[in-house]
Amino acid sequence: MATLKEELQAKVDAYDHWAKRRHFGPEGANNRKLWVLTCMDERLPIDEALGIRVDSPAGGGDAHCFRNAGGIVTDDAIRSAMLTCNFFGTTEIVVVQHTQCGMLSANAADLEQVLQNNGVDTDDIVLDPTLPELSLAPGSFSKWIGMMDDVDKTCMRSVEAIRNHPLIPDNVVVSGWIWEVEPRRLRAPTLDAERRAMTDVSSAQFGVSRTQPPRWD
Ligand SMILES: [Zn+2]
Repeated sequence: MATLKEELQAKVDAYDHWAKRRHFGPEGANNRKLWVLTCMDERLPIDEALGIRVDSPAGGGDAHCFRNAGGIVTDDAIRSAMLTCNFFGTTEIVVVQHTQCGMLSANAADLEQVLQNNGVDTDDIVLDPTLPELSLAPGSFSKWIGMMDDVDKTCMRSVEAIRNHPLIPDNVVVSGWIWEVEPRRLRAPTLDAERRAMTDVSSAQFGVSRTQPPRWD
């Protein structure tokens, strides 16, 4: 049996390694070697949904967590996934999107029109002031907004996009999940109408009649 002195020393050493992780490249991976892509929505408790500790208590250490509007695949999501999978020891990616998502609540073309009405030239936008080389082709702003028609379809396609991306190593395990805000539970993405009947999963359920600008095509 170890002495208390030995146990304490092991804890101190473990904490020291935890705190200095990024000095060690792939040897300093987070607890679960995991990258999570998820929506910024305040009703999506990622720790509860996945049974891990990312956000609470602060510094739980189980995963790198990337949140954006919708939890969709964007250039910055790919940038972050590329870094953690190739250089920080991550071997698994989990995508979590959710019912009642604000990204279902309007058509992106209408949102673009609002901005244009406010005087914004959406065909001449500097997306990233630190990287002006990153630009959108004229006419593609509404695609860039990334609104969804259907959260389950978007989740499935997000998983495929990550799996097929050349910056993500082939051996990374990728899965996608839906957090149902209404009953507060996790499920796999599905197009089964019966299984989705109690939740809002499509833009049509928000009264959006037109399909979104085709981001994927
Ligand atoms: Zn959302």
